Amino acid sequence: MQTLPAAAENQPPPLASHDLYSGNRPLVEGLRREAPWADDRVHEFGVALGGEPLEWGRLANEHPPVLRTHDRFGNRIDEVEFHPAWHSLLRLSVEHGLHALPWCETRDGAHVARAALMLLAMQVEAGHGCPISMTFSSVAALRATPELAAEWEPLLTSLVYDPGLRRASEKAGVLCGMAMTEKQGGSDVRANTTSARRHGDGEFQLTGHKWFCSAPMCDAFLMLAQAPDGLSCFLVPRVLPDGTRNTVHLMRLKDKLGNRSNASAEIELHGAWARLVGEEGRGVRTIIEMVNHTRLDCVLGTTALMRAAVEQATWHASHRVAFGRLLTEQPLMRNVLADLCVESEAATLTALRLASAYGDPAQASFRRIATAIAKYWVCKRGPGHAAEALECLGGNGYVEESGLPRIYREQPLSSIWEGSGNVIALDVLRAIRREPESLEAFLDEIDPDLRPSVGDVDEADARRLVERLALALQGTLLRRHGDPAVADAFFARDGAAYGTLPSGLDFRSIVERHAPVRG
Ligand SMILES: Cc1cc2nc3c(=O)[nH]c(=O)nc-3n(C[C@H](O)[C@H](O)[C@H](O)COP(=O)(O)OP(=O)(O)OC[C@H]3O[C@@H](n4cnc5c(N)ncnc54)[C@H](O)[C@@H]3O)c2cc1C
Repeated sequence: MQTLPAAAENQPPPLASHDLYSGNRPLVEGLRREAPWADDRVHEFGVALGGEPLEWGRLANEHPPVLRTHDRFGNRIDEVEFHPAWHSLLRLSVEHGLHALPWCETRDGAHVARAALMLLAMQVEAGHGCPISMTFSSVAALRATPELAAEWEPLLTSLVYDPGLRRASEKAGVLCGMAMTEKQGGSDVRANTTSARRHGDGEFQLTGHKWFCSAPMCDAFLMLAQAPDGLSCFLVPRVLPDGTRNTVHLMRLKDKLGNRSNASAEIELHGAWARLVGEEGRGVRTIIEMVNHTRLDCVLGTTALMRAAVEQATWHASHRVAFGRLLTEQPLMRNVLADLCVESEAATLTALRLASAYGDPAQASFRRIATAIAKYWVCKRGPGHAAEALECLGGNGYVEESGLPRIYREQPLSSIWEGSGNVIALDVLRAIRREPESLEAFLDEIDPDLRPSVGDVDEADARRLVERLALALQGTLLRRHGDPAVADAFFARDGAAYGTLPSGLDFRSIVERHAPVRG
């Protein structure tokens, strides 16, 4: 009688505990170039993340948050319950300063160091990156009102994760979110209908709703509302200084495609107490400082997930045999894998270059336009990259346990929030028209032979232009800092799908460069 094998054959071992940092060569090289002082710290974080947090990531997504609107006596409580794994992830990231580092660190390259930490953390679990990113970014906007910043910044940059709704003055650290999007308009924030009534010096009462308010357990939110002098930015705490709850009602949590560990709420504001941030009537100008930083984080988040997908795809293919050879020995699979690695390296260099511009006021013009260009292109490439990486695992990739479905569901998000594709592409046109020095600064960065010509651009051509600018930047960065084989492959690309690189390139070395390192 035939006996069944005792163990599953020809299945790769799980990519369990491993050092996320050392295996990511473009990241290691970039960090050593821009912020060598952070190398040990990021390495230690990469080792820590490659252990138990991988399991926290799974648990936090398999046990999504639950909304508790009322207590058992019928009183409103507006709380969200999270799995302990979510808190563990947030605690780890807060303790390592992912929400704060550049605001507290004076050494050059602090934004790059923080970007490196974010790339590693988001690779493990992207959902908790949302409150981390918003907290980090809120500081940039809050500084428009120095007395508010003086009060809140020490709490927003604290390395203590202190969950629970209590007044800020009683907490060792706080988190901050952002709510702009309303039912009748998201991208078009000027269509906001939430109203702000003066209630005292710099104090207002907000009445209306927000259609998306992610991480609603945050201690405070920056919100836009229509004040007497026009659309303005407000800081809205969840708990009032007297310890009672502010009238921010959580109505429902969104049932989302991905990003399941994180809660995204619909909220109503019933005369919620708020403090003006920046000038009344200049709300967009004030909150855009926050939005730009979260756009940087959209680039980081997509890049992190590309890296996670590359790790899984190259790991699987280097252990799975089909038709008598390892998948990594099959020429066509090597082409697909190498192409995925090229995308990941190009995104990593773009993300690090962008982050470095955030640390240098002299690069404000470059940053202005490069944020939009990088956000558009890197985030646009995410979903296709995830789909192809998933396919490298064959049927296993379509199964939840592989982790690839989570990446695949998450990837479209960064392209939607903080400005969807078209809106971002149009923002590039706006920058070119209103701040032509930003285009000049961008083109200065590009190698002369790669510089696209930019004339008068029709709105309908915005994506075409932004794509060209993004590819020119990526090509320049790869030449300057990338692996030569990766750069060669990038310039040889002419197909639409991954795996259409011309043969004769050094696929093997590209794949080996990007393979994960077991700790
Ligand atoms: C999971 C999740 C969490 C979110 N969390 C938050 C949050 O915490 N806070 C918050 O404020 N928002 C949040 N959002 C909302 C998000 O930022 C918006 O959905 C996004 O900005 C788009 O706005 P909208 O949904 O109103 O779409 P619309 O503005 O209606 O846009 C729909 C489509 O039309 C396109 N479009 C719009 N204008 C133009 C134009 N002029 N020309 C061509 N095309 C155009 C857009 O690119 C988009 O593709 C979240 C969204 C998601 C999915």
